[in-house]
Amino acid sequence: MSLSPDRLPAPHLAPASGSAAGSASGAFAIETHGLSKHFGKLTAVDGLTISVPAGTIAGFIGPNGAGKTTTIRLLLGLVRPDAGSATILGQPLTNLPGYLPRVGALIEAPAFYPSLSGRANLEVLARLGGYPGARVREVLDLMGLSDRARDRVGSYSSGMKQRLGVAMALLPDPDLLILDEPANGLDPLGIIATRDLLRRLHEQGKTIFLSSHLLGELEQVADWLVMLHQGKALYNGPARAFLDQHQGASFEERFLALLKGEHQ
Ligand code: ATP
Repeated sequence: MSLSPDRLPAPHLAPASGSAAGSASGAFAIETHGLSKHFGKLTAVDGLTISVPAGTIAGFIGPNGAGKTTTIRLLLGLVRPDAGSATILGQPLTNLPGYLPRVGALIEAPAFYPSLSGRANLEVLARLGGYPGARVREVLDLMGLSDRARDRVGSYSSGMKQRLGVAMALLPDPDLLILDEPANGLDPLGIIATRDLLRRLHEQGKTIFLSSHLLGELEQVADWLVMLHQGKALYNGPARAFLDQHQGASFEERFLALLKGEHQ
């Protein structure tokens, strides 16, 4: 399902105040309600309530330390929330086996076997996950790694490792793809290739939740936006509506204006 902006729920401006439609409808790939995570005295995620419609490319933006990676780790069950709840692909956060097989994720620096080739790394994962062997060649092709597939991962550049990380996330042919800074280390060609890939996945009806500091890049691909600041949502709504609030302003200018408003 692909939702065009005019069919999307109304944008939620700060503080994001809950979903505009019930999760029972399946309209949202990700919904969180009052999600919080503390590390000692530090509040990394602070009562976060967001909703990401199924079939969108959702940009997840915010300054360094805003809580983006922690939110993604919460969604993937890598850390436990201190409060709140979430639904991913219609399943509660507490039912990881119910949704994780349909989720592909690239988060922080992915771990590889450096002495194995890129292909072998993917084959190990495919066997462990029970994915068809043919999928390995497909994701290598998708990520432009086929030429170097037989080389040891230890000999890969950081951009090639990043591509391999995205290839790993794509292995399960996921309904929801969560990517934390996928453009890290990519050259301009890699960035353009990733943009094209995201658009193709979007056309297939997949949901993509994408954290990035490359606002110009997000402006080109995202149809939904979640903006985080100090663990709270400053904006959760259609990207178009975000830009329309200030005609002619770019994502970057709007983002800075919102942040400035927060600090006044
Ligand atoms: P960046 O854009 O710099 O990657 P981010 O938005 O992803 O930042 P997080 O990595 O989620 O931010 O960090 C949010 C806050 O939580 C930061 O202040 C960070 O120092 C803190 N934090 C994250 N993980 C831990 C941890 N394991 N232990 C202690 N503090 C943590």
